[in-house]
Amino acid sequence: MNRMIFLLKTGCLGIAFIFIFLPAAATAPSVADNAMDYKAERTRMVRFQIGARGIDSPSVINAMQKVERHLFVPPPLRSRAYGDYPLPIGEGQTISQPYIVALMTQVLNLSPSDRVLEVGTGSGYQAAVLAEICSQVFSIELIEILGQRAERLLTELGYRNVHVKIGDGYQGWPEHAPFDAIIVTCAPSHIPAALQEQLAEGGRMVIPVGGPGDQELVLLIKEKGEIRRKDIIPVRFVPMMRGNGKSY
Ligand code: SAH
Repeated sequence: MNRMIFLLKTGCLGIAFIFIFLPAAATAPSVADNAMDYKAERTRMVRFQIGARGIDSPSVINAMQKVERHLFVPPPLRSRAYGDYPLPIGEGQTISQPYIVALMTQVLNLSPSDRVLEVGTGSGYQAAVLAEICSQVFSIELIEILGQRAERLLTELGYRNVHVKIGDGYQGWPEHAPFDAIIVTCAPSHIPAALQEQLAEGGRMVIPVGGPGDQELVLLIKEKGEIRRKDIIPVRFVPMMRGNGKSY
């Protein structure tokens, strides 16, 4: 159980992991040098990190098996792409641990017709997983270089149903609201009111809330205009930032 909680807590930051694994990544030969090896690593990831921890939605399992996570991490870290930890993606940001991506996707209970808003595009990996499952993904990234890189990669990979915007996701994306689901992959200290408003009736939002060292992954469900809240697990994500560099 202690081990489980330790793993669960490394949602997006996992600084300890980064320090442990980065030096090794620079020197170790890649254990997966071709697409076949990466596929086998993905299969192991899905079985031992995701299935074994209770993720059982067939659409989520399929998406995690299909999306080539190694393409979303910086080339020197590719051999670590299927490890059970988050990884740095540049600009001080991270791609979440695979289990956390799967868990957040599963709790959204997505249907193929759903339109989803993501706040925090980062590498674009979570957006690709969502795009495998639902009809349209609208993703907002504050850091221009990350958003542009993710948009380029997603286009190259043929994801026509992902729309990336550079901007502050705290305000949501009113032009495309309401959304059947909202996923936030950076942590504000409180739940942004605009995001709650942009949730459709029956809509679900998954969001890490709290300050450094004290965050909870929360699921919100809008029913008859009221928001119901369920706490899921303690997590550690990068903070949601304002354009001026301060956190929300
Ligand atoms: N979902 C990403 C992980 C992103 S890490 C992936 O799959 O790779 C969180 C991201 O949120 C970072 O890229 C960070 O720049 C971004 N972010 C932080 N504050 C933000 C804000 N106010 N609006 C939009 N994005 C924000």
